This record gives sequence, structure tokens and C-alpha cells, in this order.
Amino acid sequence: TYVIAQPCVDIKDRACVEECPVDCIYEGPRKLYIHPEECVDCGACEPVCPVEAVFYENDLPAEWRAYLTADAETAATI
Ligand code: SF4
Repeated sequence: TYVIAQPCVDIKDRACVEECPVDCIYEGPRKLYIHPEECVDCGACEPVCPVEAVFYENDLPAEWRAYLTADAETAATI
């Protein structure tokens, strides 16, 4: 899955939402997040983010790895 990390907080540009072919990017209270079970790993969202908040899970910087589990937990509630 792709993951939206810290740079999105309080930005929520939504350019990624327009690009996602499966509409798996949701709006959280402070940032957007990707539903890990719905994401098809197409990568379309990554280059359009103006603040470079989107990463493939394996490329996620270590300090932002918590977003991987936090967003999965958030997704489980929808
Ligand atoms: Fe959507 Fe593709 Fe980004 Fe996954 S990688 S969130 S499917 S645009």
C-alpha cells in the first residue's frame, strides 16, 4: 500500500484524491489517509502531492512508519 505521512497534516491538498482510480483516499481529522486494503499500488497519487507526503510503504521514512499502522486502524473503522 501507499501511505500518506506527516507533511499532509493540516494541509490536505486533495490532489491525490483526484488521481486515485479506486477512490481509496479518505479525509481524516487532520490529514488524508489511504485505505491499505483498497489501495492497488498504482502510484498515481505520489507525484501529484505538492508536499511530498505520499510514500510506498517500503519507502516510508523511519520516523513516519507509525502512519502505516495508524491509518490501517483508522481504515478499519470505516
Ligand atoms: Fe489510490 Fe493508486 Fe495512490 Fe493507492 S497508489 S492510494 S490506488 S492512487
